[in-house]
Amino acid sequence: MQKKLSSNLTLFFNNHFPYNSYKKSKKTSTVYIGIGGNIGNVKQRFDKLFLALQKDKRFDIVKTSPLLKNPPFGYLAQDYFLNGLMVLKTNLTPINFLNEMQRYENRFGRKRSFKDAPRTLDIDIIFYDKLKINRPRLTIPHPSWKNRESITIPLKFLSTLQIDIFFDQVNF
Ligand code: AMP
Repeated sequence: MQKKLSSNLTLFFNNHFPYNSYKKSKKTSTVYIGIGGNIGNVKQRFDKLFLALQKDKRFDIVKTSPLLKNPPFGYLAQDYFLNGLMVLKTNLTPINFLNEMQRYENRFGRKRSFKDAPRTLDIDIIFYDKLKINRPRLTIPHPSWKNRESITIPLKFLSTLQIDIFFDQVNF
């Protein structure tokens, strides 16, 4: 299912996006990650990422947002991006968490070429509990989360209440 929000923004709903787990996690930290991509079959890649994270004992998936198709920024001569958010629980430290997410990026074919280049899978850490971190390799909260529709719009749909309200408004 999809819903056009404006001329250049479309929301997509599928099996794993959005998703809500009703199991309570015993892991200590709550991390919001942003996922994005614009090369090849991104929806299928996100599904594979979801299943891989679900299998990975270091993470519990709490919930995910619907996916937002939106225009590129920075380098404009490239396809629209698909973006979404996932809320994970983990016992990893922020730096170890970043390392593991970079491993997942690589596993899904990420090549670093130039800033804002097209990509198969980008994983950004948006929030890690209420921590503020300013290190060369890691800034948390993600410095531009407030200015990016690719983050703010999926974020609105993460609250169970809002998802329920939204689902009440559409007929399947
Ligand atoms: P990008 O090419 O946009 O994915 O940027 C990746 C680089 O940003 C990595 O080398 C990270 O060390 C750095 N980085 C800084 N803050 C964050 C963050 N909150 N989430 C992910 N990567 C970050």
